[in-house]
Amino acid sequence: MRPTVVFIAGVAWPVTSITRNEMIVEGNTPTSIGYSNGHNNTIRYLDALSPDRAASVIFHEIIHSVESEYGVGLDEKQVTALASGLFECMRNNKEFFRWLMEETGRAS
Ligand SMILES: [Zn+2]
Repeated sequence: MRPTVVFIAGVAWPVTSITRNEMIVEGNTPTSIGYSNGHNNTIRYLDALSPDRAASVIFHEIIHSVESEYGVGLDEKQVTALASGLFECMRNNKEFFRWLMEETGRAS
């Protein structure tokens, strides 16, 4: 089951799916499939997406959220490149990233 919150720089960002109508009501274009809001720390994605597509959209929005929390000023092209590149790298190196996460917090 997918967790419903992601912590970024210690801040909880709820991650929820919404309908196309809700997406528009919340100020997005009819073609929007996800967004992150740095004012209320939320990530939303379209409920009609396949699980695989939802995962990549959520990851893209996480990169936007990291950008928001750290204020590095990335533009959409940079966010897209980072999100796509990192997601593809993690997807193709699951064993490596599993090991990397297991190493987190170990005493040196
Ligand atoms: Zn974006």
